[in-house]
Amino acid sequence: MARVVLLTGGNSGDVKRTLQAAQQLVNAKVGAVLRCSHRYETKPWGFDADGVFSNQALEVSTDLLPLEVLDAVQAIERELGRNRAAEAVEKARTGVNYTSRPIDIDILFYDDEVIDSERLTVPHPLMGEREFALVPLCEIMRQRRHPVTGRTVGEMLEELRNK
Ligand code: ATP
Ligand code: CA
Ligand code: CA
Repeated sequence: MARVVLLTGGNSGDVKRTLQAAQQLVNAKVGAVLRCSHRYETKPWGFDADGVFSNQALEVSTDLLPLEVLDAVQAIERELGRNRAAEAVEKARTGVNYTSRPIDIDILFYDDEVIDSERLTVPHPLMGEREFALVPLCEIMRQRRHPVTGRTVGEMLEELRNK
């Protein structure tokens, strides 16, 4: 059994419903959702889009290996209408690396494992730069330490805000 921490988010369609559906699908396909944060709304990060972003952090107990978690969350993204091919076309058209999407599920932590492979980097490398990840995370695990830096999630948020 491992504990995996996921961040769900989206900014197109009925985001509230999509995030609820994502939570149910995670519970069914990744493992029991032990804790979840509220949904937090933020302005899009890294690109201009119409919809606000909603994000939610989930702590999940899982029997899956890290890459199996990635496969499962990507399958859930597809099931909830995410179309990576269409996003690639949109990215090529705009030259911007981020696009609107109904659902995005990132792996923030997998136990205290440090993974740097072609498909998967854990802990998520941009977590410390993103309030939209740290704020929901702080709600459910403020004291959790980053396995590489040793900083707590709460400290990471404070540092980001002091930048
Ligand atoms: P960002 O990672 O900056 O938030 P994104 O979520 O928009 O970007 P995606 O298009 O959803 O990026 O995913 C691109 C690839 O990132 C995925 O195909 C996956 O293999 C890889 N990836 C690497 N590390 C992770 C991780 N910790 N969680 C989810 N995907 C990851
Ligand atoms: Ca993401
Ligand atoms: Ca992603």
